[in-house]
Parts: sequence; C-alpha cells; structure tokens
Amino acid sequence: MSSTTTPGDSPSTTPAPNDPDAAAAAQGDNDGRLVDAGYPGEHLAAAPSPLISSPPSRRRPRRSTVFLGAALAVSIVAAGAGFLWLSSQLSESRSQIDDQRNQIQQQQREIEEQRGLIDRKEQFGAAMTELYSTIDPLVGLPYATLVPWTEIEAFADSAWQHRWTAGALSRDVVDVEAFTAVLSNRAAAARGQASTNATGTPWEATFDSLGGGWVSMAFDETNRPCGLEAMACVAEGGPFVVHVSGDTRSDPQLTDWIRTGVAYHEYAHVLQFTNPEATASALTAFSGDMETMADCYALTFLDGWSLDHEVPIDDLSYWEVSVGYGYTCDDAQRQIIREWVGGLGVQKRPVGA
Ligand SMILES: [Zn+2]
Repeated sequence: MSSTTTPGDSPSTTPAPNDPDAAAAAQGDNDGRLVDAGYPGEHLAAAPSPLISSPPSRRRPRRSTVFLGAALAVSIVAAGAGFLWLSSQLSESRSQIDDQRNQIQQQQREIEEQRGLIDRKEQFGAAMTELYSTIDPLVGLPYATLVPWTEIEAFADSAWQHRWTAGALSRDVVDVEAFTAVLSNRAAAARGQASTNATGTPWEATFDSLGGGWVSMAFDETNRPCGLEAMACVAEGGPFVVHVSGDTRSDPQLTDWIRTGVAYHEYAHVLQFTNPEATASALTAFSGDMETMADCYALTFLDGWSLDHEVPIDDLSYWEVSVGYGYTCDDAQRQIIREWVGGLGVQKRPVGA
C-alpha cells in the first residue's frame, strides 16, 4: 500500500495499471473519493456532469449557500437598518438646522427690534432737545402757562411707558414735535407782533410794552363785548387777547391816559390767567376779587394813575370819570402785587429727573 497515492502526489508517480495492489486500491477507492488511480477516462466518466445531474430544484442547498444567503439577508437588513439610521440622523440634523435657522431669524428680528427701539429713543431724545431749545428763550416770560410743564412731563412719562414699543414711541415723537411746532410758531408770531402796532392805539402800545408781544388786542365792533359796563376784557380760555369795545376809540369821556390805565388793568388779567397758582395765593389779599386786584396792579405800576379822573369838556366844564371798581388799594396790597409779579412766569424745570 506504499504505492497508494496520497492527495498532493504528482501523477507522474502514479503506479502502472498492472500493479494489482494499485488496481485494488484504485478499485476500492472508486466508491467515494476522486482519486487519480491511473484511469483518467473512467474517472472522467464517473465525474458528475451538469448535463446528467439532477435538476437544480431538486438539489438541496448546500450549507455554504444557506450560510451565504443568511449572511446576505443579514447584511441587507443591516444595510436597511443603517439606511434607516442614516435617514433618521439626517432628518434629525435637518431639524436641528431648521431650529438653528429659526433661532437666528428670531435673534435677527430681536436685533432689528432693538435697533428700531434705539432709533426711536434717539428720535424722542432729539425731539425733546428741540422742545427745550424752543422753551429756553421763553424762560423768564411772565406767563407760566405758556410752557405747560405737566404736558411736557407727560411726554417723558409716556416715552418711559413705551420704552419697549417702537410704534408707540414713534407716536410720542410726533406728539412732541407737534407741541414744539405750536410753541415755536406762537413765539415767532409774538416776536413779529411786538415790533408792530397795527392799530396805532395806546392800548396796543401798552400791551406791546408790557406784554413783550405776547398779548394782542382786538377791537370788537359789536361794542360791549364784555358786558354793558366794561370797556375791555380778557377771557380765561384765551388769555393772550384783550377784547376792547370799538366805541372806546371815539368816546369823548376817554383820554389816552385813561385808555392806558385801563390797558394796565387788562394786562393784569392776562397775568392772572396765565399764572393761576401764584394768583390764587395773591388773591387772598383782595378777598378773592380779581377786579380790585387788577386795579391795584395798574395803581402799583403806572406812575400817577388813579381811579378817578376829570376829563375836560371845555374851558369851563369837565366830566368826572371813574375807572375801575371803586377801591384804591393800600401800600401793603401794592407790595403783594409787586411780589406776585416778581414770582410769575416760565421757569425751567428738569423733566424725568
Ligand atoms: Zn377787569
């Protein structure tokens, strides 16, 4: 049996066919294994041929095929799972990107809102600065109500309330600018009016002199615009205009001196209405009577003025003309009038402090 070939031996060492041992060995080996036993033709004929083999359907899958199939299935499942995992990862990433984009947009909106607010605050600050520069030349004028500080403080309060709302702040800016424009126009008109005396009367000359152009007069041709007794009057709701009865221009009982004194009296009413707080205090010295207080103003500031006059008719006769309300104030009351006038007017106030 030493001649029996072993797998891996070279065919050249194959024993001759007549070697009985070898033949036996080759015969004995024909059952199962393919052994090169010196009969190549016979072996070839015995080898399985696809042409004569069983149909594939009837073949049992070999284990390696099963294993390969299973491995393929597992890898397909794994690939599918991997795809799903990748898809979910991508989806998650996309969602995160969307979230970040939304956050960025939100932040940009907030930045724009902040920028808008800063712009509005700067506009409001500029509008208030403009208002103060319009008020500055008015400070010291004897009409406190000319600059209504409560309204200006309300502007500042409103802007503070609206400090986070650009739209409301914009409206505040418009309000302040409109207020400034009215004040500025009124100041410009007063400056123009002070330099002219359109009526050429002692009334207007007196008002221009006393009022610095802020007080104008209007002749009323219906006569007696202020009742049957009064030659002139001032309305509390429009304190910068003195209404004068038209017939005072030609009344023979009046002189320019009397007209001037009455103009002083009327100007006192202007001061009373435009300085309500200070006036309320001073009025106590006149038992709350606005008219005797106004007479006292004329008596205090118009040198030589009195309430009783003699107006000549001719060389032999004259009219006794009484002007005013029949009470000549004393020195103590005149001192109160001086103090009242000294404390009147527009004063500068810090706003929002
Ligand atoms: Zn009066």
